[in-house]
Amino acid sequence: MNEYVINPHAVISAAVAGEEKRFPIRRVYCIGRNYADHAIEMGHDPDREPPFFFQKNPDNVCNVDTFPYPPQTSDVHHEMELVVALKRGGSDITLENALEHVYGYALGLDMTRRDLQGEMKKMGRPWEIGKAFEHSAPMGPIHPVSRTGHLDKGRIALTVNGELRQEGDLDQMIWKVPEMIAYLSRFYTLAAGDLIMTGTPAGVGPVERGDVMVGTVEGLGELVVTVV
Ligand code: MN
Repeated sequence: MNEYVINPHAVISAAVAGEEKRFPIRRVYCIGRNYADHAIEMGHDPDREPPFFFQKNPDNVCNVDTFPYPPQTSDVHHEMELVVALKRGGSDITLENALEHVYGYALGLDMTRRDLQGEMKKMGRPWEIGKAFEHSAPMGPIHPVSRTGHLDKGRIALTVNGELRQEGDLDQMIWKVPEMIAYLSRFYTLAAGDLIMTGTPAGVGPVERGDVMVGTVEGLGELVVTVV
């Protein structure tokens, strides 16, 4: 007997490197302006003001090698990011304990309808329409921390059609992974299955249909996504 009035949605999940089992996704938190050089390129002061976060929808995450050019925009930007996957959560998590909540790390793209985001910023409205749309978070498999160790430094980069667009180092993050977990947990109850997109280095820019994006973080391989 079906206990729902409509068919329930499938569990949204991400692949795990070297495992047949998948990682179920609950929420997707994203930090803004977390690399000083990217804050500057977006016209902001990179001083260490409190961090700010927005969310994407769990079903915006996709483990596929194509990114369909989204509707209602003519300026879609790539933002290459390290993604943190949590295996447990809680409130008021301390800095000291924060990393114990991490299941693993993945490569991710925070695809952004920059024109819509800009209009919303100008009007003082939420950015959601620029950030949380279908296929807006292409992601590679999650690498368990048991195999990678914790990632606090290492090259992060993105090429488009072989040309280097974004490059930085994880050690340039203004807010580090434990700080992001601790800070978020003061405002939200974090839980197993939550993802945190940790911000992007400088060099964000537009893509067109046919472009091939290749993102990398040292130790996590490559994420290859074609815009279609
Ligand atoms: Mn971002």
